[in-house]
Amino acid sequence: MIRLAIQKSGRLSEDSLNLIRECGISFVSSTYKLKTEATNFPLEILFLRDDDIPGYVQDGVADLGIVGQNVLVEAGFPKLEVEALGFSKCRLSLAVPRGAEYSSVASLQGKNIATSYPEILGRYLTGEGVQAQLHTISGSVEIAPSIGLADAICDIVSSGSTLLGNGLREVETVFRSEAVLIANQNLNTEKQHLLEQLRFRMQAVRRARR
Ligand code: ATP
Ligand code: ZN
Repeated sequence: MIRLAIQKSGRLSEDSLNLIRECGISFVSSTYKLKTEATNFPLEILFLRDDDIPGYVQDGVADLGIVGQNVLVEAGFPKLEVEALGFSKCRLSLAVPRGAEYSSVASLQGKNIATSYPEILGRYLTGEGVQAQLHTISGSVEIAPSIGLADAICDIVSSGSTLLGNGLREVETVFRSEAVLIANQNLNTEKQHLLEQLRFRMQAVRRARR
């Protein structure tokens, strides 16, 4: 039996469940249950908050997980990625108030930036030679400039409409993300074999979708 952790409810949930079903794996899921067992494959599915998934897979509480690369890299475990899944594509971008002066990332030197991704943003700014004060907040990052908490933000963007709605202008892409399958690095032989079967089926599903 192999254990896969997926997001309980959020932007990854539906596509994760669909992918498992399209792999020919049957299971019953209820919104109240935190785990379920497949009926025709030795798989147990755990439903968790996405932020907890990388750590649980790193520690072996779960063998496998489906999570966004943004959350995986921020958690510091990029090595766990085994397969890109092609859904939940989004980007982590820097944005400034519409009227703010901005010519390049150097314009952020010495500024206050609000984000939920201090690791990814910090590495990016260091690479660009920019020093800024990062303020880590866990949600509603887009309102930080309008309440005087920050000069700029760095957050997940897909269409850009949330930025526009908060009077912000996207100025730099910091990181591109999609959902990935991750795996614990010390799986026993039996679990490695099950992982290979799952990857084979996932690849077939992606080919069939194209
Ligand atoms: P949880 O309650 O599990 O912590 P959350 O609120 O942190 O959920 P969601 O908003 O459901 O997370 O987003 C989950 C993941 O989906 C993100 O980490 C990112 O990889 C991806 N994602 C986020 N926003 C979008 C978007 N607008 N379009 C596509 N993918 C997105
Ligand atoms: Zn989350």
